[in-house]
Amino acid sequence: MTAPTNLPLCEGVLALASGELSSVEWTQACLERIQAWDATLGCFLHVLPEDALRAAEASDTRRAQGQRLSPLDGVPLGVKDVFHLPNAPTTCGSRFLEGYQPPFVSSVCESLLRSGVVPLGKLNLDEFAMGSSTEFSAYKRCRNPWDLGRTPGGSSGGCASALAARLVGGALGSDTGGSVRQPAAFCGVTGFKPTYGRVSRFGLVSFAPSMDQAGVMAHSAQGCAWLLQAIAGLDPNDATTQDVSVPNSYLDPSFSWQGLRIGLPREFWDAGMEPCVRKSVLEALEWMISQGAAQVSVSLPRQHLALETYLVLASAEAFSNLSRFDGVRLGQRRQHTGDNWTSMIQRTRSEGLGPEVQRRITMGSFVLSKDAVSDYYEQAQKVRSLLASDYAEAWGSCDLLLTPTTPTSAFCLGDRLEEPLAMYQSDLFTVGANLAGLPALSMPVGFTSRGLPVAAQLLAPAWEEQRLLSAAHSFQQAFDHHLKVPVLSSQGSKL
Ligand code: GLN
Repeated sequence: MTAPTNLPLCEGVLALASGELSSVEWTQACLERIQAWDATLGCFLHVLPEDALRAAEASDTRRAQGQRLSPLDGVPLGVKDVFHLPNAPTTCGSRFLEGYQPPFVSSVCESLLRSGVVPLGKLNLDEFAMGSSTEFSAYKRCRNPWDLGRTPGGSSGGCASALAARLVGGALGSDTGGSVRQPAAFCGVTGFKPTYGRVSRFGLVSFAPSMDQAGVMAHSAQGCAWLLQAIAGLDPNDATTQDVSVPNSYLDPSFSWQGLRIGLPREFWDAGMEPCVRKSVLEALEWMISQGAAQVSVSLPRQHLALETYLVLASAEAFSNLSRFDGVRLGQRRQHTGDNWTSMIQRTRSEGLGPEVQRRITMGSFVLSKDAVSDYYEQAQKVRSLLASDYAEAWGSCDLLLTPTTPTSAFCLGDRLEEPLAMYQSDLFTVGANLAGLPALSMPVGFTSRGLPVAAQLLAPAWEEQRLLSAAHSFQQAFDHHLKVPVLSSQGSKL
């Protein structure tokens, strides 16, 4: 058998079921691998060895008695540090919340724990989930295990890097504009964002609440399906969740490509895309066609406005949403010499929050200001509805949409740090799903000549997660891109 930590989630689940592997062995192997590699990779902000081993022992005891809480019982999992998890601080990658002990547990973590997962700890991210490279983490730099000189993507970079490097069996992330799918693409794992309202946001620290959604990452679509199964459904604590029935399995055993219409939105294939990305996605399409799918050309005429629209709306929401981080209601208050509360809040926020978060707050305050609101915020709301109607129209002629997840493979650390617009460009293809509230998945479809993963994105109509996951699962039965393991070497480039 492969070394336990080299097991992707599905094989691990099978090995647990056959008794070849115990949850304690798998968990211990992950903890050892974290010990060996996390100093290099920078994935974890907080490790929970005691909680993890205790949960793993409980899972093994259940199994010995012939019980299992879910397919995920005993699987070691990492959680992005924006979710409240018991016995761990929630920092959101920010110094502002250093040591913050949440007073309650997020609904998704509670569900996962009830499914028997083993909580390994909290994973690194861009501060308050704002960023596309995890370089805006206030704590540590996170690296891509496929090339240590490159970013793992962001903001759930810690999740994707830890999964690719096999430090965890699965991961829980959040996706407001692509933060699960883009890092999954850069690190060669599978990332899934559900329909808005499918999963509770209670206990997920919000960034832009009209787009935030918990997402899952695993090596394969099968792993994502199990994770989604555990967290999907109505939550009385989150009024935006909807009572839409959750299937018994997110993988449909009768799934077939025969007659399935795959829409290729014309607007996604412009110059500026790395040739290898285009080639690998089109090869994946060719295979789907060979299985009986039909290619359809569709148009999303407002796609060219998606990124700007997202930035205006996400910044506006972040601006109003983050006002409670003022050193009074939340966050660490800074020493101040002024004699009024304004100077205290000013100092606390300018010293406590990092550059990207400040940039978003500034942008948000501008687009909502009296003179600009009708030109920016209100226009962006209109474009958002138009964009959603473009998708609705596309579903008239296709069952799934296929695009690349990102225009390029992982970029080098530092390359885009001083260039916000270049950084935002890596979300070009992912933000549409958040604006329209649609489910979307990223799966590896190849590698560049430098050995960097390349990914395709699949989108489906709202609530059709099962179609999406079944399609990706079927693809992954035929290809093994998602099972490739990076060779870790501390001699990596540009270390
Ligand atoms: N990278 C995008 C941003 O910085 C998306 C972030 C996210 O999905 N949390 O806004």
